[in-house]
Amino acid sequence: MSNSDPEVAVIGGGAAGIGAARRLSEAGVKALVVEARTRLGGRAWTVEAGGYPVDLGCGWLHSAPRNPWTKIAAAQGRTIDRTPPPWARATAQPRMAAAEAKEFRDALWALHDRADALLEDEPDRPLADFLEPGGRWNALIDAVSGYYSGAALARISARDLGRYADDGVNWRVVEGYGAAIAAHGAGLDVAFDCAVTRIDHGGRRLRVATTRGAIDADAVIVTLPSALIAADEGLFAPALPDKTRAAAGLPLGSDDKLFLSLAGAEAFAPDSRAFGDPRRAATAAYQLRPFGRPMIECYFGGALAVELEAGGEAAFFAFARGELVGLYGSDFARRIAPLALHGWSGDPFARGAYSYALPGRADDRAALAEPVDGRLFFAGEACSREDYSTAHGAYLTGIAAAEQAIEALRGQGR
Ligand SMILES: Cc1cc2nc3c(=O)[nH]c(=O)nc-3n(C[C@H](O)[C@H](O)[C@H](O)COP(=O)(O)OP(=O)(O)OC[C@H]3O[C@@H](n4cnc5c(N)ncnc54)[C@H](O)[C@@H]3O)c2cc1C
Repeated sequence: MSNSDPEVAVIGGGAAGIGAARRLSEAGVKALVVEARTRLGGRAWTVEAGGYPVDLGCGWLHSAPRNPWTKIAAAQGRTIDRTPPPWARATAQPRMAAAEAKEFRDALWALHDRADALLEDEPDRPLADFLEPGGRWNALIDAVSGYYSGAALARISARDLGRYADDGVNWRVVEGYGAAIAAHGAGLDVAFDCAVTRIDHGGRRLRVATTRGAIDADAVIVTLPSALIAADEGLFAPALPDKTRAAAGLPLGSDDKLFLSLAGAEAFAPDSRAFGDPRRAATAAYQLRPFGRPMIECYFGGALAVELEAGGEAAFFAFARGELVGLYGSDFARRIAPLALHGWSGDPFARGAYSYALPGRADDRAALAEPVDGRLFFAGEACSREDYSTAHGAYLTGIAAAEQAIEALRGQGR
């Protein structure tokens, strides 16, 4: 091994890669994070907008009390905000009376309860099968599916959703979830702007081909988003068709956030929410005054997000303006202006927001996470059985893959 070669190359510096590399370093293993972007964090990304830190990727510490990022962010001196999320409160909004908001929430939970009752030995089904036929809130439930899975109910495995573990407590990091995750990678050895093109695992050592040359390593931890693994059959040499297939069962859904400035914000309650049109699946969710700030976080999911990405920020803004004017009147158009947006489906190093499992493919998560030959390991949110699609799920799979790699290296007498 040349002095510069790592023992373990960690492909990708998002929540999973940072978690893995930190664990390896703590164990005294020489690790190198190989990252295509010029920053750490991946789908965790805090930017400045209107003078505030805003999260274009993950924003909520889901299952907050047991979420390892809660402790990490607090230890970094960041502020944990415990205001319950708008979706946990069934309050009135412009086109929904309080009673309707409650009826909708009950219908959504009833769908989940019906899907959760699917037994492990019964055949999997699409989540759409569990909708109440002709149900009044079916279109809005599909819209919400776009927010939490990034895809319509017809594409989602009920078994996978049933396995998702959510303790229902959601907090936020005032200074940004993405900032906390990226900061946890401080001090790691990282090759930035270094896209991996191929992982050759046929030789005595593994060889990682990148846009900046080759890196040899004893073990590799792959944390690439599942959509990227699925899209590139040539990523592994020799090919690993079972991995490519497993990743294809776990596509990334589409979700994007647009932040708008809001003049006269005091007229709205902090952290309140409105759906653009509760009768449509192609509608956005608007969180007014997140953290009490004078802005709106617009959330677009599923097919609507894909369609708007084709038109860039102008298309997102025009759509949001149209819906907000419909809710609050034509004068409202003068009170808003775009601040920040990121299109995750068009991002070449993500190709989507977070993974869902296609019907019949929930077990692909375990197949994707399975190590190959005791030296090629896998992590990333899509590998998590119960915490998939989240930043804490990504982190926990990174720790697990690092433990596997440490164990394997020790087995080789290192
Ligand atoms: C809009 C949106 C909202 C979200 N909201 C929440 C939320 O509220 N709560 C929550 O918990 N989660 C949320 N998530 C999901 C969460 O951000 C992700 O699940 C998590 O960050 C994924 O981490 P990861 O390490 O698995 O993948 P990534 O963060 O994608 O890390 C993979 C890394 O690999 C890099 N990479 C890609 N290709 C290459 C290559 N060829 N060579 C080298 N490196 C490469 C990428 O740049 C990236 O840094 C949200 C995501 C989005 C997009």
